[in-house]
Amino acid sequence: MIPAYAGYILRVNLDDESIQKEPLPEALVRQFIGGRGFVAKILYDEIAPGTEPFDPQNLLIAATGPLTGHFVPASGKTHFGTKSPATGGYADSNMGGHFGPQLKYAGYDILLIRGRAQKPSILVIDDDSVEIRPAGNRWGLGSLTTEKKLKDDLGEDFQILTIGPAGENQVRYACISHDFGRQAGRTGVGAVMGSKNLKSIAVRGTKSIPVADLDQAYEKGKEAYHKVKAKPGFEGWTPEGTAGITNWTNEVGVFPTRNFQTSFAEHYEDINGKAVIEKLKITDKGCFGCPTPCGKYGHTTTAAGSAHVEGPEFETIALFGGNCVLKTVEEVAYANYLCDELGIDTISAGVVIGWAMECFEKGILSNEDLGRDIAFSDLDSVVYLLNQIATRDGIGDLLAEGVKVAAHRIGKHSDRFAIHVKGLEWSGYECRNAPSMMLAYMTADVGAHHNRAWVLGHDMAGAWTNVHDLIASKTEIEAQPKAIVSDRSAEYVIESQHKRSLFDVLGNCRLQMMELGFEAEEYAELYTVITGEKKSWEELITVSERIWHLTRAFSVREMDGFGRHLDYPPPRMYEDPIKDGPNKGHFLSKADIDNLLDWYYTARGWNQKGIPTQQTLSSVGLVAVAEELQNLGLI
Ligand code: SF4
Repeated sequence: MIPAYAGYILRVNLDDESIQKEPLPEALVRQFIGGRGFVAKILYDEIAPGTEPFDPQNLLIAATGPLTGHFVPASGKTHFGTKSPATGGYADSNMGGHFGPQLKYAGYDILLIRGRAQKPSILVIDDDSVEIRPAGNRWGLGSLTTEKKLKDDLGEDFQILTIGPAGENQVRYACISHDFGRQAGRTGVGAVMGSKNLKSIAVRGTKSIPVADLDQAYEKGKEAYHKVKAKPGFEGWTPEGTAGITNWTNEVGVFPTRNFQTSFAEHYEDINGKAVIEKLKITDKGCFGCPTPCGKYGHTTTAAGSAHVEGPEFETIALFGGNCVLKTVEEVAYANYLCDELGIDTISAGVVIGWAMECFEKGILSNEDLGRDIAFSDLDSVVYLLNQIATRDGIGDLLAEGVKVAAHRIGKHSDRFAIHVKGLEWSGYECRNAPSMMLAYMTADVGAHHNRAWVLGHDMAGAWTNVHDLIASKTEIEAQPKAIVSDRSAEYVIESQHKRSLFDVLGNCRLQMMELGFEAEEYAELYTVITGEKKSWEELITVSERIWHLTRAFSVREMDGFGRHLDYPPPRMYEDPIKDGPNKGHFLSKADIDNLLDWYYTARGWNQKGIPTQQTLSSVGLVAVAEELQNLGLI
């Protein structure tokens, strides 16, 4: 047994219902450690080049890390991976909750699913017993409803993953849901699960995981919890969770509003963290072993309906409260609930709907196209479109393809304001006066996603600053100076991309470090006592670098004509000055965008088309990858 790991990969082939348990290869552990590393390596090696995302031979992977399920603050993360139905390239999505620890307690570090079930099915893992069962009348139900039913049927101690109607109908930004409000939200992993006719996965585990030095692991773990709770930001940040950043993003003018036409919402105090606490919250809700529960479970009542819901967290506030301009936190929470029940990513949905609203305002989409009038600030429009998308009815069939494809098909220059990179809709930060963050979105391996690198602190404060300190540094709205564009952005972005990857590799939530400033080196010490492998933070980070080159290589191989053009943001981001708010009049020019890419590619060791060179790939141990890409004529 390898200390820290459960020791096995569980392979399920839905084509022939075969189930195999195989030892976790030590070479995989040494080179890629866990989570995102496992996902990147397995996707590259085991998906045949050119496999379509909805082909049964595409893989759906759930991988844990060495710290998942151990006595370490916030060690409940699971990493999902597939070939993306949103971009056609590399895809992964990280989820909190309790599934990953339970999978390890059942004896598996990685769950790997291939094939397509003949009929809608569920997978039930109960330690060594693994069964594929009919989904029955659960197919067609919402995610929250399905999870409740499965808990009733199987027992409370099972942890459940499920998709909603959006996943069943292969909406390209459908999510996998868990724990009544946690999501593997991005990149369409839920659509791939739906394409496999797999409604749900339930797991219960009762085994233990080996630890290299149990006494030390216990002492270091206990100390880590005390240290997190002693951080200055602990009392201030935890009560509102990520919603607490809403004020700051408006004060500095990076809050996406009206389909990214501007970056400031007048009504931000009606949808901020304080409003979540005062208008919605019933209780805090956290993931496995978390000392800083950022989930806010509450209840909302609106004219469109009422519901219990976890959230909204910041991204949902930004994309529905800002981008679609819903005016109250209750309305944002109701849109959040509907996305959770239908199984749709709130970020992509908020971008797609915001784009459709602007198209209607400009006369590009008509009442006839849409089936009714729609408008910004109108909850009924949001509810209508979410239901259309999830069921692929009417205009929903087009919108379910994502904003890039929808804009391409509609034409009329609507791609100028279709806000995505590589086909993945842009998450909650407007960057026309934030060059480092703009570069982070442009170069994110899965498409425009903030979780790959968050460098707004560098843009606003000139250095890495934990989020609590950043928020505390500003309390009023002021006109922002025009940002200076420099080659330092490449350095900041790469540093952040590597740091964040490592949390996804270890199986830990990054928020204790990023938001509160819990020290990076503590994680290396926890890793050392649990695995028995002595490693510094810097040594661990080298794995992140390897992963970044490998995921890029995957997309080079899988996305037709991969190159620099796929890293550009939409023209709105470099042609239209911001209309109002603290950054009024600012924008980055096309020359700025090209400079940022040039600096980044050089720092990465990629050529000026954005393709890793043979030398770069070989230098991080990816010799076979370099050879394959060379044989395919891609480098
Ligand atoms: S901080 Fe939030 S996302 Fe992170 S582990 Fe805790 S509850 Fe989960």
